[in-house]
Amino acid sequence: MATTGITHTVTLIPGDGIGPEITRAMQTVIAASGADINWEIQQAGEASFEMSGELLPQAVLDSIRSNKVALKGPLTTPVGHGFRSLNVTLRKELDLFSCIRPSQSFHGTGARYEDVDIVLFRENTEDLYAGIEFEQGSEGVRRIAEVVADLGAGDIRDDAGLSLKPISVFGTRRIMKAAMDYAVANGRKKVTIIHKANIMKHTDGLFLRVCREVAAEYAQSAPEIEVDDWIVDAACTRLVTNPELFDVLVCPNLFGDIVSDLCAGLVGGLGIAPGANIGDDFALFEPVHGSAPSYAGQNLANPTAIMLSAVMMLRHLGEQNAAERVHKAIAEVIAEGKVLTYDLMRMRYGTTDGASSTQEYADAIAERIVG
Ligand code: NAP
Repeated sequence: MATTGITHTVTLIPGDGIGPEITRAMQTVIAASGADINWEIQQAGEASFEMSGELLPQAVLDSIRSNKVALKGPLTTPVGHGFRSLNVTLRKELDLFSCIRPSQSFHGTGARYEDVDIVLFRENTEDLYAGIEFEQGSEGVRRIAEVVADLGAGDIRDDAGLSLKPISVFGTRRIMKAAMDYAVANGRKKVTIIHKANIMKHTDGLFLRVCREVAAEYAQSAPEIEVDDWIVDAACTRLVTNPELFDVLVCPNLFGDIVSDLCAGLVGGLGIAPGANIGDDFALFEPVHGSAPSYAGQNLANPTAIMLSAVMMLRHLGEQNAAERVHKAIAEVIAEGKVLTYDLMRMRYGTTDGASSTQEYADAIAERIVG
């Protein structure tokens, strides 16, 4: 097997809900690829809280800082109350500013489209996702409301909660550069800026302006890359009706979160949507989906998204050959349509009867790789 022969130590966070079972399935497949990965297992989220009372122990961050590369399963975040997202904390702590989410069709999924190939770049550290929030009735809301009123910028009701939306020149430049560099390196044709600059002129307006400035800097060296822009709502409609119009997308944080799930839906759903969070120093790979608590512990969930995240990780580590073999085996098993998890079964045949378990599906892919 043509691998680099290098042993790569990677931090592995199995995560919550379906995380541990899809992680095991992913490890089966990566082991079959021949890539020599030494998984350094670290617990975060519910598993860690039960053991140590901590949701994100310092050891997790130390491990990622030392290994530079991590792969994680989903982590649960309480809705509307409780602690801040650990995913957001990890991205901010490690300055993983670039979130890359490819949505590529696999033949035979039965998804709405069979020829989608979109790669979305989501700014990962700013915007409404920055976590700068003030609770209803707090001192923060009161003082900000005073300043806003003093400046004649509008009224904020005294029973409001507040989330701030910072978007900076610095943050925008680096995500647009990442998208343009990716487009150039991967022979892509177009980068589309997604925004709501008609309404939020000083945040999305800044995002659009700075992205265009960066694009102009590439005009001489990469004239083959077309750059256009779409308002997010119109872009959503057009993505659903004509996904072939899109190639590389670059989005502020919140729109990137939402539009990437939409793109996942075009090619077959969250079960097959991978992602990477990349900064200057560290890389953390993870599926787009969450912990799907209603499927936890049942060996039913689709592990493709975390397997494809591991494929992205293998490419990042220079293990191209192993990456391509895993990708090809996944594509073949899906195309064959015999061993499929419940979601793939439902999409292709309209029934979950005869669905395979998480691990049976992984074993079929592993056999395909070694056979
Ligand atoms: P979710 O966990 O992504 O699940 C939503 C639905 O997507 C599932 O009910 C299932 O749909 C489908 N799905 C997701 N993963 C799948 C898989 N591997 N195989 C097959 N189907 C899959 O979203 P959620 O229920 O809104 O969120 C649950 C928790 O996860 C929340 O606490 C949220 O904050 C967290 N979350 C974490 C991350 C992360 O760690 N990066 C990302 C997103 C959400 P069907 O039932 O229709 O089959």
